[in-house]
Amino acid sequence: MAGAIFDESPAFKKYMEQKGGITTVLKTMDNCYDYLRYYAVMSVSNYMKARYVGQSEGAAKSIIVAALKQTSPFLMNKLSADVLRKMGQAGADRCLTMLEKLRTVFRQRLETLDWLSDATRQEALKKLEAMQFFVGVPDNLSEGEFTLDEGNTLVEDALSIMAQNVAIRHNMCGKQIEQQIRAIIDYEIDYSTKNAFYNCEMNCLVILPLFISEGMFPADDEYTQYAVATVFAHEMTHGFDARGAKYDKQGYLTDWWSSESKAKFEAKQQEMIALYNRMEAYPGQPADGKKTLAENMADYGGMTLAYSLFKQKKIDEGLQGAALDYACREFFLHYAKLWLEYPTLAQKQALYLDVHSIPQNRVNVIVTLFDDWYRLFNVTDGKLYLAPEKRVQIW
Ligand SMILES: [Zn+2]
Repeated sequence: MAGAIFDESPAFKKYMEQKGGITTVLKTMDNCYDYLRYYAVMSVSNYMKARYVGQSEGAAKSIIVAALKQTSPFLMNKLSADVLRKMGQAGADRCLTMLEKLRTVFRQRLETLDWLSDATRQEALKKLEAMQFFVGVPDNLSEGEFTLDEGNTLVEDALSIMAQNVAIRHNMCGKQIEQQIRAIIDYEIDYSTKNAFYNCEMNCLVILPLFISEGMFPADDEYTQYAVATVFAHEMTHGFDARGAKYDKQGYLTDWWSSESKAKFEAKQQEMIALYNRMEAYPGQPADGKKTLAENMADYGGMTLAYSLFKQKKIDEGLQGAALDYACREFFLHYAKLWLEYPTLAQKQALYLDVHSIPQNRVNVIVTLFDDWYRLFNVTDGKLYLAPEKRVQIW
């Protein structure tokens, strides 16, 4: 019976009897299963009676696992640390190497952009240099600290995590230091999701293990690697999108833009908004260029850095003429393949809330900003054609 999972849990009984807060309950527990059960109960207790009546134990368990991942990702990560490591370890070094190459390309472009004032350029460069990368599973997520059968190490861990999390949340408006960054990354991220993200307040980029697994970021498939690199670079340029550009290298909400550069930057943003407003989000529904601006800017930045890196690599390898064109065409095709899905009407609600453009626009609008795309695919007119002066250039 599914109900038994909860009703017989000592943690649940204590919670129901004491209601003394998590600290009181944790102090009296003697193994991690109680702790996990406690969290499960905490997260589902409000609706469990109604929800689990008649559910199979397996179904109830999978719901509990989902709830646990949300409420206590740190413990779930620890429980599966080895599995997670195996998923991502192969790609972690490759990914870090790629990230550093992308950083170098971005640096070179910032150094020569003509619309940035020198003062703004220097601040942008500092911010880029200070950006931290966290890839795969953190070293300190060791299973060794985790004792299932001998005493209450996990409970002590849990208590200190709770204390740290509370301290971190209290400090969210203040300044984060390295230790706090690590704590948030280690304790609040579910490592079993396929995701990568940038955090403005911490100026850091996180790439989770599943994202760099062999299937996603393969060692022996360069095109796929560079297509995925557009996503890494997407995250990197989030630090400089409409929102990210308001934060400085330490994550302070500081205006580091000269008025002249800022006016030019904002004009470029208006052009980006207009580009997407002319598209459809799905048949009959116009896209919202303003809502999706930050993501579209990151898509553009991602493509700019990854394509530039890829093309230079091919040139350095000696490719030219038709051979170089072939490789570049493949790059664009692999980028399109990444987003090869179209939202159905059933996804309308999710679409409405999503701040990303739909996959089709993530490809179709972005490619039109690249002169090479027109030449490589012989595009001289048609629905997607943009006159050269309308191809927004930011980075
Ligand atoms: Zn994004």
